[in-house]
Amino acid sequence: MKKLLPFLLALSLLAVSCQFPSPSPAPTPLPTTDPSQPFERSLFREGLIEESRPILEKLQGASEYRLEFEIAADLLNVTGREIIHYTNNEDMPLDEVQLRLFPNLLGGRMQVTNLVADGKAVTPVLTLNDSLMSIPLPTPLEPGQHVTLGMDFSLTVPDTVELNYGVLAYAEGVLTLAHSYPMAAVYDDEGWNAEIPPQSGDLTYADISFFDVTVTAPKDLTLVAVGREMGRQVEGEQQIVRYAAGPVRDFYLVVSDDFESISREIGETTVNFYAPADLQSGAEAGLETAIRALEDFNARYGTYPYTELDLVTTPTLALGIEYPGMIAITERIMDPKHDYLESVVAHEVGHQWFYNLVGNDQLDDPWLDESLTQFITLQYFEDEYGSNGYQGYRASLTQRWQRVDNKPIPVGLPVADYNGAEYSAIVYGRGALFFEALRKEMGIEVFDAFLREYTETYAWDIATPQGLKSLAEARCGCDLTPLFDEWIDP
Ligand SMILES: [Zn+2]
Repeated sequence: MKKLLPFLLALSLLAVSCQFPSPSPAPTPLPTTDPSQPFERSLFREGLIEESRPILEKLQGASEYRLEFEIAADLLNVTGREIIHYTNNEDMPLDEVQLRLFPNLLGGRMQVTNLVADGKAVTPVLTLNDSLMSIPLPTPLEPGQHVTLGMDFSLTVPDTVELNYGVLAYAEGVLTLAHSYPMAAVYDDEGWNAEIPPQSGDLTYADISFFDVTVTAPKDLTLVAVGREMGRQVEGEQQIVRYAAGPVRDFYLVVSDDFESISREIGETTVNFYAPADLQSGAEAGLETAIRALEDFNARYGTYPYTELDLVTTPTLALGIEYPGMIAITERIMDPKHDYLESVVAHEVGHQWFYNLVGNDQLDDPWLDESLTQFITLQYFEDEYGSNGYQGYRASLTQRWQRVDNKPIPVGLPVADYNGAEYSAIVYGRGALFFEALRKEMGIEVFDAFLREYTETYAWDIATPQGLKSLAEARCGCDLTPLFDEWIDP
């Protein structure tokens, strides 16, 4: 993410013939798994390209979620059930596990009942406006051990996109379920790292995890979700669809009765764009950009790891929002001639490397995902269109910084330390120009090798500012402290 769309574009409604109807697969029995057992990692093989599959044998301490969502016919009420295998990856015992209930910050209402830890009923403590659920463990969890948490939950979805860009909403016929399950907080050098996110930035900070998700919803709706569809069946008026997603940092689901999809292949990956019929020309342009951006970033940062990437239009007030293997694009820019469509799609595709593959604390270090993604979007325009493309997109970055009169506000602050105008100007404008300055300092060849090494080093992990600086200095054999003092550090 993300910036607030400052205006509503009047869309010309283009008639497009229905060339690409969604297939309606034959009912397929759902595989079964024993919820008391850790996942069979083979469940996730089909979702990964071949060269990424060895990661399934690693990441043994990753959280494993079994989720069931039942979506009511009104699309405003969801009930669910969750089982998490949570492993203590620290070197000290943990006496609690903390889960985030983000819908309680998004204008929705999430309530958890019947909570058990290793089969024993436990009473959680809710704080941070009911968005943080601390679960005391019956016995401390030793390093390397896992606890199985089980719970039921209910969710009421807001019927407006006015709150938090509408990441969680049922509006204009589209249900967007973002962060809509109790989600493990990250334990890092700060301990359990949880806060109330400022309105302007991203919400989540999450470790790589695995998800086995079953969704029950009215049968005539199109479901688009993170991960790979593993089976479906129809019972009466309901469809039951199962997804396997992982390794990923989050699960996201979009539901609409008005989607058509178009698809293209790149390597082992199928890229789908879901949009209403009247936005199909935008979808075709967006799909073309997504393919070109994947080609560019695949070559630069290693091949996109999943066999599927889904782009989907939503009524969100952000321009675009990234999820693992999934991208939401606001309906309001879905016109091939819209100035923002190409840059937003390229930016969100870039987040598949810098947010999902390489994670970071999006609240404390937003420059590691947003500034870097803005910079690789600049690279995309250079790679696609040469110096004209480079200068054109670069002008949008300098214009952003000019909105705060080019003040040298540090790029490396937490989201909460910027006001709204500064956040956009510094993290999305000046921050990208920092990477340009870093490239100049290191030389293009050394810089390109460094950024690829950074991606490989922190793949499926959490990067830090210090880690980025150290890798860059090791590559160039130079002292980058003066440059970081000038641009990044307060
Ligand atoms: Zn972004």
